[in-house]
Amino acid sequence: MKICEILSVGTELLLGDTTDTNATFLSRKLREYGFAVYHRQTIGDNEKRMCEAMALALSRSDLVLVTGGLGPTYDDITRSVAARLFEMPLMRNEAVAEEICAYFRRRGMNMSDNNFLQAMVPQGAEILPNLWGTAPGLRLKKDGKEMILLPGVPREMKEIFASSVEPILAEESGGRMKTEVLHFYGISESLLDEKIGFLMKESKNPTIAPYAADGEAEVHITALGKREEEIEALCRGAKEKILALVGEYCYGEGNTSAENEVVTRYRQKKMTLATAESCTGGLLSQRITSIPGASDIFSLGVTAYSEEKKMQVLGVSEKTLREDGVYSRACALEMARGVRTLSGSDVGIGITGIAGPSGGTEKDPVGTVYVAVVSGEKELVERTVFGRGKSDRAYIRHLAATKALILSLSFCENSDK
Ligand code: AMP
Ligand code: MG
Repeated sequence: MKICEILSVGTELLLGDTTDTNATFLSRKLREYGFAVYHRQTIGDNEKRMCEAMALALSRSDLVLVTGGLGPTYDDITRSVAARLFEMPLMRNEAVAEEICAYFRRRGMNMSDNNFLQAMVPQGAEILPNLWGTAPGLRLKKDGKEMILLPGVPREMKEIFASSVEPILAEESGGRMKTEVLHFYGISESLLDEKIGFLMKESKNPTIAPYAADGEAEVHITALGKREEEIEALCRGAKEKILALVGEYCYGEGNTSAENEVVTRYRQKKMTLATAESCTGGLLSQRITSIPGASDIFSLGVTAYSEEKKMQVLGVSEKTLREDGVYSRACALEMARGVRTLSGSDVGIGITGIAGPSGGTEKDPVGTVYVAVVSGEKELVERTVFGRGKSDRAYIRHLAATKALILSLSFCENSDK
């Protein structure tokens, strides 16, 4: 398998002013084409360090993709450093110079002499045309090693990548890589590791890797193969093994989310949903309605923040608020029932709790949230303390909304509608 390395050039990346989206993009693309990326480096616009970084990359990788530093200014030195390492002297390329002139003519812009720096091409390098800017990409080869230089501007980089680099990768690729994702809720990363860790260790193709994400977990299954069916079969085999062990925690597959699953499955069952939120302040309805087509399943979202409105709008009883309090199972249930009645939906959700940072008691610390989900036949209410005592308001609200989404999924599964 070909070993690849990505070099991101630009002092702005090291300073944290610019996020290195190019490297992420290139990593994904290389993975798709079945190449292994073992290293990535980020370097500033500094000749000595760039030279060291490029030499290191060439010593351990077969293909090095570089982005940035191809511009017309004094700090754009990628071209000249690469030319020196490959012992290919820079020469002015008239065709590239004419392309640059034409680019400025088309836009009715004056060009400066600096722009001709971009027409300096390492002798023997292949030119990868840039129809979207002035700096062409360059491909340099020597002793079985290869380096491809691309502009830093993400749009230009992607365009050259699609038109000139992808065909090269397709030709040199040993196969395709594909990743399938399983989404889990209610299982910690450590328990996941306990249950399927042995599969992760023993499986080389596909590789199986866990990812933790805001109260959820994902397992990525990545298979390498020559043909689509072969890759599919590898992924399927691993998926079956994983689901046999921890399937009860898996709520979805592929490019999905808890809200997407809710909208998809309620729509399949032709069921509708309404929400009554307090501490999440509409976050739950926001997440549901962020999914296109949510209007098929979502009828009403009420944010009832004051006790008075919980009584007036949702019909929470004064007795409940007095005896159980606003942070209670009874209040969450009455909110869920209230919004279900108000909307005429199949299912109602109620959320009440303490998102912090202030508030909370010994019994109900910050992060305590009651989530109730009710339908005609079934009522469910759960108390959870999110955030483990840490008063991270946004995090607690996010986790509470996720919990509500996951609980509401179980209503959909059990319905015969
Ligand atoms: P350069 O080709 O180095 O002159 O980069 C031009 C511009 O592209 C920079 O000012 C950044 O805004 C952007 N850029 C450069 N490198 C990256 C990168 N790795 N990821 C995202 N944006 C980048
Ligand atoms: Mg730069």
